[in-house]
Amino acid sequence: NSFMELNLSRPLLRACEKLGYVKPTPIQAACIPLALSGRDICGSAITGSGKTAAFALPTLERLLFRPKRVPAIRVLVLTPARELAVQVHSMIEKLAQFTDIRCCLVVGGLSLKVQEAALRSMPDIVVATPGRIIDHLRNSMSVDLDDLAVLILDEADRLLEVGFSAEISELIRICPKRRQTMLFSATMTEEVDELVQLSLTKPLRLSA
Ligand code: AMP
Repeated sequence: NSFMELNLSRPLLRACEKLGYVKPTPIQAACIPLALSGRDICGSAITGSGKTAAFALPTLERLLFRPKRVPAIRVLVLTPARELAVQVHSMIEKLAQFTDIRCCLVVGGLSLKVQEAALRSMPDIVVATPGRIIDHLRNSMSVDLDDLAVLILDEADRLLEVGFSAEISELIRICPKRRQTMLFSATMTEEVDELVQLSLTKPLRLSA
């Protein structure tokens, strides 16, 4: 059971090696092959399980395997809090360090102007908190999600707890219908299940 067996490209395997990842964690071993097949995923996983790489590696592989013709935002990762967004963004940058994939952070507390410029430059991946990305969508024309291929809802239970339910529904409506969606949650509450119904199509359920 090694990363070699997971059908990931060289630049991603090199990054795992550099990070000292020898063996995939259980959620990674379960999620990566299924996510590579393009299916929607609903995973129960807590922080510390390796869930970030579980969704980031197959997503990066998809970007490498299906390069875009024009610059566009291809992936949106929503997280409930700024600190988590910072961590996820940093993890993705480390995993993508041997590729030319660009990842941008969109959270409160950073300059709107600077973020707007970053969004206009069409990064491949945007890691955001819902409030801030909605601000950009409402107040400027800087966010174009027409070419979005993957939507990731990280810590879905916390996303709903902190009252982002309306923002998330609005974002899901804006995202193209043909996309892959992955949702991760530490707990599977009724509210999370409603979000699963709203955002995922025939999801595969995983737990670790
Ligand atoms: P996460 O659950 O995504 O917040 O990851 C928790 C920690 O585990 C992070 O510091 C990761 O760098 C680390 N990690 C993720 N996958 C692996 C792996 N396969 N082997 C060793 N450490 C890992």
